Amino acid sequence: MYDPEQTKWIQYNKHTKHPLKEVYKHSKFECKSCKSKGQGMRFRCDQCNFDVHPTCGTCPDSISSFTHPQHVLQLMERPNLHFHECHLCQKLIKGVVYRCKACNFFVHPVCSQLPEYLSNHAIHPPHSLKLQLMASSKCDVCDKSCKHWRYFCGICDVHIHVGCLSGKSTSDNDDEGGFGVFVEIVAGIAEGFSG
Ligand SMILES: [Zn+2]
Ligand SMILES: [Zn+2]
Ligand SMILES: [Zn+2]
Ligand SMILES: [Zn+2]
Ligand SMILES: [Zn+2]
Ligand SMILES: [Zn+2]
Repeated sequence: MYDPEQTKWIQYNKHTKHPLKEVYKHSKFECKSCKSKGQGMRFRCDQCNFDVHPTCGTCPDSISSFTHPQHVLQLMERPNLHFHECHLCQKLIKGVVYRCKACNFFVHPVCSQLPEYLSNHAIHPPHSLKLQLMASSKCDVCDKSCKHWRYFCGICDVHIHVGCLSGKSTSDNDDEGGFGVFVEIVAGIAEGFSG
């Protein structure tokens, strides 16, 4: 699966000393850009032990997203105002983030890659799931309340936290776990758990 002939290198504007190499490792890392955990595929500088998510290494300064169609989202360093969490995964923002200033809407670069529809996903194969903002209800994976964005099947009334797509439950403090992993699996960037 890892073919050295196809090694991709990037120049990364926050680590200009050396180019970063695309590598796949099973180990976890902390992304130097968004400061969240990742696992699997990454851009890395071995000399400096510097890792970033594939998405964070290549994300543009501004994007438009179906999750916030009214405005363009701008990439910014951590907003050092108050406590902010990503609107999609509901985890704390510690580093670089996409923001709509007018609406105070925040989303991690990796979470901005989440697809609007997931079809044939292991967690609910019969129907496609749609990522949407809804009123509070219970997550069908972890049984905890799901207040904002979730993947939803309207036929079965199934609600799943973004962070629960890997089948593991999320808690407020489990950031050591798979953040970045689930997102990249969902987005088809990393390899899935199933095989
Ligand atoms: Zn990152
Ligand atoms: Zn370096
Ligand atoms: Zn997020
Ligand atoms: Zn906005
Ligand atoms: Zn859940
Ligand atoms: Zn269904």
